[in-house]
Amino acid sequence: MSNFNQESVLSVHHWTDTLFSFTTTRAPSFRFANGQFAMIGLEVEGKPLMRAYSLVSSNYEDTLEFLSIKVPDGPLTSRLQHIRVGDPIIVGRKATGTLLIDNLTPGRNLYLIGTGTGLAPFMSLIKDAETYDRFERVVLVHGCRKVTELAYGERITEELPRSDLIGELVSEKLIYYPTVTREPFRNRGRITDLVTSGKLFADVGLPPLDREQDRMMLCGSPELLRDMRVILDERGFEEGSHAEAGEYVVEKAFVEK
Ligand SMILES: Cc1cc2nc3c(=O)[nH]c(=O)nc-3n(C[C@H](O)[C@H](O)[C@H](O)COP(=O)(O)OP(=O)(O)OC[C@H]3O[C@@H](n4cnc5c(N)ncnc54)[C@H](O)[C@@H]3O)c2cc1C
Repeated sequence: MSNFNQESVLSVHHWTDTLFSFTTTRAPSFRFANGQFAMIGLEVEGKPLMRAYSLVSSNYEDTLEFLSIKVPDGPLTSRLQHIRVGDPIIVGRKATGTLLIDNLTPGRNLYLIGTGTGLAPFMSLIKDAETYDRFERVVLVHGCRKVTELAYGERITEELPRSDLIGELVSEKLIYYPTVTREPFRNRGRITDLVTSGKLFADVGLPPLDREQDRMMLCGSPELLRDMRVILDERGFEEGSHAEAGEYVVEKAFVEK
């Protein structure tokens, strides 16, 4: 049996000239946990060209959704950015990843911290009722350079609170905190600076960072992950994994080559 399913593109949305998202059909046999990633790609010269992609869609949805960068000379995304409705997409049958609620010990506040396409796995998690069952407050922090790169902002603030399935939980528990570094905006600055200065916590109306109460999931650039690890390790936070739950978990949003 092949390790891949062939899906079909259902919709494409271009956010900026470097960022787009798309939905595809979903094979009923494809199972995943919210927060995981899968290998997806295109057939190029008769061979699958695959890259890791987080699922934006939640595991109870009938379609799959992905948020993608456009790397000008990137082997996959220089092609993938041109997909149209009806085009085939290959999706690996196995999903994996560490950004699972089960990999965290119980806490009061869950901080989902992502930069760029690192938002993707958190879109899946904020649509999951389980996330809200485990935590009193869920704070989604998305850092980008420009305002237009804050993908899904309206879906988070307008659509999700009205959803029949999770609208009530989202309205009651989700706090969305977008921040940009290169333009004027209501929240400005690098996430690491907002965490170390305490501004993030003051702005969302929650107590300062505290190992007893706070849990974190991180997905972003290698730089964000390195700097956030230092901040959390200095404060005694333990990293969680499948082997042992901890106070924070980390996933790369991409690998620097
Ligand atoms: C666990 C994991 C999950 C991932 N999830 C996503 C996702 O949901 N969406 C997504 O677009 N990419 C994601 N990526 C990155 C993805 O696998 C590819 O690298 C990306 O699609 C570009 O593919 P490419 O073949 O065009 O270029 P590549 O040769 O793969 O990458 C070329 C260079 O582009 C830069 N780059 C690649 N991806 C990104 C990115 N997402 N943001 C900023 N710079 C980048 C890096 O400098 C990289 O070295 C993920 C990577 C990992 C390891």
